Amino acid sequence: MLFKGIKGLALPLILLALLLSGCGPKSSGAIVEDKVNVVTTFYPIYEFAKEIGGEDVNAINLLPVGVEPHDWTPRSQDIVNTSKAQLFLYNGAGLEGWVPNFLKGLDSGSKVQAVEVSKGINYIMTNEEDEHDHGGEHKEEASGDSLHTDPHTWVSPKSALLMAENIKNSLVQVDPAHKDGYEERYSKVAERLKALDAKFAAELAKVPNKEIVVSHQAFAYLCRDYGLTQHAIMGLSPDAEPRGQDLVKLAELVKKEGIRYIFFEELVSDKLAKTLAAEAGVSTMVLNPVEGLTEQDQKNNENYYTLMEKNLQNLILALK
Ligand SMILES: [Zn+2]
Repeated sequence: MLFKGIKGLALPLILLALLLSGCGPKSSGAIVEDKVNVVTTFYPIYEFAKEIGGEDVNAINLLPVGVEPHDWTPRSQDIVNTSKAQLFLYNGAGLEGWVPNFLKGLDSGSKVQAVEVSKGINYIMTNEEDEHDHGGEHKEEASGDSLHTDPHTWVSPKSALLMAENIKNSLVQVDPAHKDGYEERYSKVAERLKALDAKFAAELAKVPNKEIVVSHQAFAYLCRDYGLTQHAIMGLSPDAEPRGQDLVKLAELVKKEGIRYIFFEELVSDKLAKTLAAEAGVSTMVLNPVEGLTEQDQKNNENYYTLMEKNLQNLILALK
């Protein structure tokens, strides 16, 4: 599937082409003339846009399968597609630091509306020491005291509901003729998200333990909305490396609090989670920040709802 467009090429040539072009697989999808073309930056927004858009929308996701969004940047074809689209949906809150320059680079004749989907959510600020450049705003010289917006809004069903509403409103705005369809499909999405939210609230209220240890700091919104506390091995971005002394402190906390599982995720290496778990004598389990689907997730027809349901089941297991 990955190599669909370049099937005739010999494998070494394909590999060379991938190396030269920088960062692996391409985003999927092409502009369809008689639909509302919606370009989304990463999976959760793509999922909601596709569901709410239904047959009226052609959704193109920029982030390829199996890639996590923190260090991804767009390619020239993405600029071409987005220039021709009606709507460009991005998370905002500092997730896609490349967006301002990307928008400046669009064709001058482009009529695309850019919408920050996480707008209206009560953002969580963090003073986490950020050694990773999220793309422009906070460079290496940023000190540990400066505040950053935590971008991981979608990981809580409560804020995902607001994002879905923003997506619906932006679709109605660019394509008012199909308002009824957007409203109808949105109400189904909203129902599912509200049910998920209610289930998270009810189940997590029952668990006696409230502390979770995760690999990257992606669960602040989920923790805020459902009464948990996260301790992250890494920072906001999964490739921000922890310091040795932080790992020792975490191992002590795990022992002191009687924490039984260290959570890791599938799109980034589980090495540190495994190291910490071994150090503290506990096990590991998956907690998915739903930043993207893996190839396997796609084969198994996983989606935002099924992955969040699995997250809930693993949280219950770890915290009971
Ligand atoms: Zn993240």
